[in-house]
Amino acid sequence: MKTRGYVALRAKEDLIPYEFSRRELGPRDVALDISFAGVCHSDIHQVNEDWGPSLFPMVPGHEIVGIVTAVGDAVKKFKVGERIGVGTFVDSCRTCDACAAGLEQYCEEGNTQTYNDKERDGTSICFGGYSNVFVVDENYAVQVADSLSLEGVAPLMCAGITLYSPLKHWGATSGSKVGIVGLGGLGHLGLKFAKALGAETTVFSHSDNKRDDAMRLGADHFVVMPEHADVATSVGPYDLIISTVSADVDLAPYLELLKLDGNLVLVGLSGKPNAIDTFQLVGQRRTLSGSCAGGVAELQEMMDFCAEHDITSDVEVVSASDIKSAYERTIASDVKYRFVIDASTF
Ligand code: NAP
Ligand code: ZN
Repeated sequence: MKTRGYVALRAKEDLIPYEFSRRELGPRDVALDISFAGVCHSDIHQVNEDWGPSLFPMVPGHEIVGIVTAVGDAVKKFKVGERIGVGTFVDSCRTCDACAAGLEQYCEEGNTQTYNDKERDGTSICFGGYSNVFVVDENYAVQVADSLSLEGVAPLMCAGITLYSPLKHWGATSGSKVGIVGLGGLGHLGLKFAKALGAETTVFSHSDNKRDDAMRLGADHFVVMPEHADVATSVGPYDLIISTVSADVDLAPYLELLKLDGNLVLVGLSGKPNAIDTFQLVGQRRTLSGSCAGGVAELQEMMDFCAEHDITSDVEVVSASDIKSAYERTIASDVKYRFVIDASTF
């Protein structure tokens, strides 16, 4: 299937227009015209090899929404004309304990990432969502409610689920004190979810620039860290703090804010190791955890939750030719709060 997209041919290079082919429709595949593709900071990390060697040529993009244009003979889940979404992975082994439990993001064999990975045949490269069309096995796509704007839904496929999953897993609810570190793509959706779940929510930010936005988005408290950790101490202690920071960050001030049995969950991935003072964990039986995206069933659950609570991402829609400036502005923490590429411009 002929496809137009944008590609990084080598590490750290600017993305350029690219024509390539996707596989023809198999019996369990659906084809979609992509409407919008979100720009995740993970795209930037992988183009720049912040996490180690990447696979090139790379067509990034794992926040995909579009309209189904064709379905294979055996497809049961979707019909032509429906709105669907695809997230950070497009296949997995389907048999390990994690896959059987609907936790395909933790597939024991390793799932197939939407890009920067090879298909399960071990040879073809996966090309992501910065493109006009996509083909995916029906088991790895979800339904999108008609009531939600497609551009606002795209970032839910990675940024949204990456915050929804730990908030649900660690039981954020009314009566919980939750902290979200970093008000970017992930963080602003974490704030919306934490509020919808009823938690008293603090945004921790590394400057005062986003205070008004945080309050508009529903934050109960906004604290510039680490300068004003004393303010956070007076609000806390916290049950759950989720760090979405894309850069190196000192974890000590956040561990110190956790109550007995409180949990600091890291989802931000700078690619650099963190130093931990074990005394901070031991003294209050605190936990330090990580969390990766969410499984397909949870992705659908989140989509339904978003339809019920009218939650979408705040987005700035850009053209394919704006990807370079979108990357630069994301790195500079100047994004409100997700760049989304209009796929008709590929
Ligand atoms: P983003 O939109 O760029 O947001 C990151 C935020 O981190 C910024 O808005 C900023 O918030 C804060 N920040 C940036 N530089 C900082 C610095 N030097 N010191 C302190 N804070 C800083 O990025 P994103 O797309 O939300 O992604 C965030 C991270 O999560 C990335 O590392 C990404 O790779 C990772 N990620 C992980 C998963 C997963 O499954 N675990 C999934 C998706 C993304 P303030 O301005 O408010 O401080
Ligand atoms: Zn992502």
